[in-house]
Amino acid sequence: MKRSSTIAVLACVLLLSSCGGNSGKDTSTVQTEVAAAPAETTSPATAEVQHVLALEGNDQMQYNTTTFRVAAGKPITLTLKHSGTMDKNIMGHNFVLLKQGTDIAAFAQKAMAAKDHEYIPQSESTRIIAYTKLLGGGEADTITFELAEKGAYDFICTFPGHYAMMKGKLIVE
Ligand code: ZN
Repeated sequence: MKRSSTIAVLACVLLLSSCGGNSGKDTSTVQTEVAAAPAETTSPATAEVQHVLALEGNDQMQYNTTTFRVAAGKPITLTLKHSGTMDKNIMGHNFVLLKQGTDIAAFAQKAMAAKDHEYIPQSESTRIIAYTKLLGGGEADTITFELAEKGAYDFICTFPGHYAMMKGKLIVE
């Protein structure tokens, strides 16, 4: 009798110390959230990590991708790589992401005059969400940004004459 009552007391102490107070409730809440999260999205593997986008520009004045889809409010890492060999003064490429509603032709016109700033027009800075460096063949640059608002965002290369061919859309869902 003495032994079993001692064990019973010990068990009580252990129970109290391991899940005393409100911690028992907290644990069950956390478990519920973890279990529910994967069911909300079709790709749980990428739901909690940031988007990693890869874009290339070549010597033929082309991007290799013209549409990206991302989720709103998730960090986005984009790497632009110049897959060609030409110099950036001849075939320079960048990635410039513009706010919705930007007049691309007017913006590109301003950008063309901004050679000293790698064709990033300082007067239009409020139109720009994110941009990479101007790259020559073999170079790459990585930027990180985030888009809270859903919609379609235009991106272009602002090297003179390139935006007509080098443009695409980043769709935030
Ligand atoms: Zn370009």
